[in-house]
Amino acid sequence: MPDPIPDTPDIPQTADPGAASLDAFARGTLADLDARALRRRLVETARGPGPAARRGEHALISFSCNDYLGLSDDPRVIAAGQEALARYGAGAGASRLVTGNHPVLSALEARLAAHKGKAAALVFGSGYMANLGIVPALAGAKDLILIDALGHSCLFAGAQVSGATMLRFRHNDIDHLRDLLSARRARHARALILTERVFSMDGDRAPLAAILGLAAEYDAWTLVDDAHGLGVVEAGARAPLEMGTLSKTLGSYGGYLCASQAVIDLMTSRARSFVYTTGLPPASAAAALRALEIVEAEPERAARPLALARRFTARLGLAQAQSPIVPVLVGGAPEALALSAALEARGFLVVAIRPPTVPAGTARLRVAFSAAHTEDQVDALAQALIDLGAGQAGR
Ligand SMILES: *Cc1c(COP(=O)(O)O)cnc(C)c1O
Repeated sequence: MPDPIPDTPDIPQTADPGAASLDAFARGTLADLDARALRRRLVETARGPGPAARRGEHALISFSCNDYLGLSDDPRVIAAGQEALARYGAGAGASRLVTGNHPVLSALEARLAAHKGKAAALVFGSGYMANLGIVPALAGAKDLILIDALGHSCLFAGAQVSGATMLRFRHNDIDHLRDLLSARRARHARALILTERVFSMDGDRAPLAAILGLAAEYDAWTLVDDAHGLGVVEAGARAPLEMGTLSKTLGSYGGYLCASQAVIDLMTSRARSFVYTTGLPPASAAAALRALEIVEAEPERAARPLALARRFTARLGLAQAQSPIVPVLVGGAPEALALSAALEARGFLVVAIRPPTVPAGTARLRVAFSAAHTEDQVDALAQALIDLGAGQAGR
């Protein structure tokens, strides 16, 4: 019999090798973030029913959720998730290439592909993980990635992991994108353009038809991150690579890519964030599948968030909303936090978005509308912002 492994004696926290300099680093960095009003803190929030939210003693109406159609607490979506949970268990048990490929995932993929008009789809653990896997599976050191300057963090992360040459083009600036392609394309084997259908922090839309035209001209591949479009802003051109999330309009959790069969087959073998991670829990997939069926069956529900956003921008004299997301630009991070706190005191949850999520000097309130909001709730928020003197400086 082998010797038992001796118990490790209890070591006091302070004696962890290297702990002193590690904690000094953490504390120093936090102090710096505090000084710039950029430190982030978790706030316990109970959501529901509908757009209601509770933070401590505060009962609030939330305008900070991405649950655009109110499907995360729809009884039909909950029932689908519960049934799958009871029948199939809590977790997938393994990666999808081993035994974690539950049939409900295939059913969801077929529905997503049909929804997007693509031959195939692949579900990932989250939207963030999808981009971390998709981009490096398509581009490497000899290649060029062009990315909208306001693209989501996970698009930049995927580009960095790929090792490709990464250039940002000015937000939605098709002339800048053309200049970069014409100057740099010939030096690289493959080129990939990364953008979003609806920009997550600005709510505006990419000029996709023009981007796809340039892509054809320069033989580049276009990936559109549709995290905030699916189910709410779907009109317009489709890119060859359409990725998104199950966690916003579909009210569940997970990510996906819709593309040709060949591309999906390639991802199944080569996207590391797909191959080396556990499959999505079947209950999450079942809930998302039911939500997607509701999106398709109830177009009047899907139209409502944008209509409410436009009601709000009209009231505040802002440019007409292009999506359910409306930024109310403030500028400085402390001012954005103060405005958010003033709204919270009036019963509204509208979270301040600060750098580095958005560029320096563009701290803002990000207002997100849901089919579950009432007209009265929207009007009351607009009035509160007018009373607080905010909004007019936005766009
Ligand atoms: C939320 C979001 C993601 C990440 O999706 P998750 O499923 O939450 O990881 C990716 N891209 C954009 C634009 C997003 O807004």
